[in-house]
Amino acid sequence: MKAQKCPVCSVGILKKEVSTETFEYKGMTTTVPNYVTHKCDECGEAIVDKATLKESGRILKDFQRQTDGMLTGEEIKRIRAKLNLTQEEMAEVVGGGLKGFARYESGQVCQSKGMDNLLRILDAYPFTMNVIQKNQVKKLALHREKKVITYEDFKALKRYKTNTKEYSVKVEGVAYGT
Ligand SMILES: [Zn+2]
Repeated sequence: MKAQKCPVCSVGILKKEVSTETFEYKGMTTTVPNYVTHKCDECGEAIVDKATLKESGRILKDFQRQTDGMLTGEEIKRIRAKLNLTQEEMAEVVGGGLKGFARYESGQVCQSKGMDNLLRILDAYPFTMNVIQKNQVKKLALHREKKVITYEDFKALKRYKTNTKEYSVKVEGVAYGT
């Protein structure tokens, strides 16, 4: 690879440096290993490597969540696994948007305080999922001309939804706010 010129001073040459970087947030510190920067040998400006920026961003968001007393991506993933739901199913049941759970888990987006509390309750008392699903199924039932659907049918319903175009339209009207 050709030596890259410094975009700041246009004189120096960028040199790759790998270090362990320490970050502080609200009085707490965390370290990010393998922190790659490209440092100018003239002006001393250091440009953070693209991949490092992405990875450290994920680590730091989790660190902030932890410091703020919020669930981390790994914890959210664990709770979802405990409930045995896919990311899409999770989003449909508790809200948060179609891609919301993928983003909470990857650390791209921080969940709201309300969502955080809901997930903690579901983690501590998984049976409370019945309360949410009961509400959901009740709404689905209304759209199916008041035909009774059991809660156990929830997953089957979802499969039905994807197979039936007409039904999926009705389900869309069921979506409720987070
Ligand atoms: Zn420079």
